[in-house]
Amino acid sequence: MTDQLKKYLTEDRSVRVQAVRLEATWKAVQANHDYPPAITNLLGELVAASTLLAANIKFDGSLVLQIQGDGPIALLVVECRHDLSLRATVKMREGHEVPTDGDMQSLLNPGGNGRFIVVLDPQRKLPGQQAYQGIVPLEGDTVAEALQHYMKASEQLDTRLWLAADAGHAAGMLAQRLPHHGGSEAPVLTPQDAAETWDRVCALAGTLQRDELLATEIDKLVHRLFWEETLLAFDPLEVRWHCPCTRERVANMLRSLGEEEIQDILAERGEVDVSCDFCGKPYKFDAVDCAALFSPNPPPAGDAPPTVH
Ligand SMILES: [Zn+2]
Repeated sequence: MTDQLKKYLTEDRSVRVQAVRLEATWKAVQANHDYPPAITNLLGELVAASTLLAANIKFDGSLVLQIQGDGPIALLVVECRHDLSLRATVKMREGHEVPTDGDMQSLLNPGGNGRFIVVLDPQRKLPGQQAYQGIVPLEGDTVAEALQHYMKASEQLDTRLWLAADAGHAAGMLAQRLPHHGGSEAPVLTPQDAAETWDRVCALAGTLQRDELLATEIDKLVHRLFWEETLLAFDPLEVRWHCPCTRERVANMLRSLGEEEIQDILAERGEVDVSCDFCGKPYKFDAVDCAALFSPNPPPAGDAPPTVH
């Protein structure tokens, strides 16, 4: 298990600490793309953040983090499922020069219309139930600041994040203040004790440097930061790359374009050739496949693999 996410609780159970460091998963995200370093770093930070948040969702389904931009980057998107399998991609805006450097604001928010979007999408929805979607303006200089702003604006638990990425690694740490539930196992805790624990954890993690976060194994890092604390450690969770795209889903997307549009593409190119935005897998639809898309009783879409989710 190379890519892990680890969870800890402070001894008084008032603060959750999580750390993640990705290598193979992060390499897989970048495999079919050639992103400039500034974009790599932003996407990697968003990938690390998605695992830290998805590790706490309580349903089968996925958490999607999106930054929609009005600059050279149109969209950064990461989808992380409850089992911590994830996929991610970037959409550039056509006609924009992508600078080799640049920060989140200059790449995504030069016109002030950038948005940070969080979607919680349960796999099995009750009738009429929709995915939950929260949207806030893109504020802050980093992905961590934008996400902290989102958490605050949506009145979620007090959360601090430290994120870093380069071409080799994507890493992050999260500290989150938990509500006090009481119960027989919970220690007696005054609000003042809990506030002190929170301040202490934030101060200790606040010393974290970007290079240190990228270069250090999780156990070593957590020990280095919190050696004076007693942390309760949980079993590590595995993070992996996975793209659930299928021919059937691509067929649905083509259907949504409409028969006329598909016929135009066919007339122009002889076949419809699309590739998955996330993994780059090519999907070809020839004239017969395209006709089947719009027949009243469409046969199963060619070599569609069985749906596994
Ligand atoms: Zn795919």
